[in-house]
Amino acid sequence: MTTQTLTDRLTAAIEAKRDELIALTQDLIRIPTLNPPGENYREICDYLAKRLSAKGFQIELVRAEGSPGDSDRYPRWNVVARRAGARAGECVHFNSHIDVVDVGRGWTKDPFGGEVEDGKVYGRGACDMKGGLAASIIAAEAFVEVCPDYAGAIEISGTADEESGGFGGVAYLAQKGFFAPERVQHVIIPEPLNKDRICLGHRGVWWAEIETYGEIAHGSMPFLGDCAVRHMGAVLHEMETTLFPALAAKRTDMPVVPEGAKQSTLNINSIHGGQSEIMRPDTGLPSPVVPDSCRMVIDRRFLIEEDIDEVQGEITSMLDGLKASRERFDYGIREMHRVLPTMTEKEAPVVTTVTDAIRLTLGKEPSYVVSPGTYDQKHIDRIGKLKNCIAYGPGILDLAHKPDEYVGVDDMVDSAKVMGLSLLTLLGPKD
Ligand SMILES: [Zn+2]
Repeated sequence: MTTQTLTDRLTAAIEAKRDELIALTQDLIRIPTLNPPGENYREICDYLAKRLSAKGFQIELVRAEGSPGDSDRYPRWNVVARRAGARAGECVHFNSHIDVVDVGRGWTKDPFGGEVEDGKVYGRGACDMKGGLAASIIAAEAFVEVCPDYAGAIEISGTADEESGGFGGVAYLAQKGFFAPERVQHVIIPEPLNKDRICLGHRGVWWAEIETYGEIAHGSMPFLGDCAVRHMGAVLHEMETTLFPALAAKRTDMPVVPEGAKQSTLNINSIHGGQSEIMRPDTGLPSPVVPDSCRMVIDRRFLIEEDIDEVQGEITSMLDGLKASRERFDYGIREMHRVLPTMTEKEAPVVTTVTDAIRLTLGKEPSYVVSPGTYDQKHIDRIGKLKNCIAYGPGILDLAHKPDEYVGVDDMVDSAKVMGLSLLTLLGPKD
């Protein structure tokens, strides 16, 4: 059979599965996999295992024992399904996270109802990313039907905890060799980046806690102590006057979206000095003391052009400058978390393949983007050492984590076609 005929048959097969795709998305939304705390991971893995084993996939259920958050009450379950083809070839892996974030306020729809209205499926996780998971499953199933004698293997994984760092999910699987380059050659993560965009990677992250020190004294005689909060005020002033302008001046050549994230950024995540602000009726008034400690958590996002040492050095030299110029200023700093930036080459095979599939399906050129925040690609790159990885999937990124989150049915069908045609290119007959 010619590739042209296969392309047409595959596209038609996916189109014919439109209702099945909707039903699958609804089923996935109706399993509330809230993280934190990490609910119903086993239930959703069992659901996926049952469906995919019926389609000829070999199933592995993997509990990330000992990972952060893993407990008998909230075990971190993951599912990896693999279907080998008729002959040797490469492996294409679709990875989706199964967890969803807190519902929050402001919903007009049932967050776990999977309601369908005006061509949209509503619910927490609809776009981030159960719609993408469903699209990849339909794409793989249709491909297997149309092209049963394919080469290599198809893998579909549903993984835990992406929303909280992915340590009980993709990081754990990568450590166990599931993303080793000898096992997997192409990875597509169907995160909601819009059906016509290919996400090549993400910026880096450096989280740190800065602490300023003071000396405790009676609050009626603050001059006898040393206020750690005032020292932190000096840090804030320095940030406003020198650090923020310096960060805004650093621009990247990475195609980061939105536009504001094309520069280095820093968020002050939290700040706390002295006693707890929350006074309950049963605890009475606070006692009068000068705070001897003030802590700030910073979330620095950095560019591929920046070096992690340079990012850290910028903060410590600012603090050292204050130590030299401000009386009694002293500080401590503690790294909490770091992720290096990653960006897959535009010439990588998974990128060119998906590019062609988007052209064919949507009749337009894709745009290439980089995510302002990180996602599980970091573990595939760093632990798995696999560079041929992108995020591509249906849904509008801006709707992720919002009330009345939804995914468009047409978007899911179109992106399933793109994923299916990508399988055809990578694993189908070469003529
Ligand atoms: Zn996501």
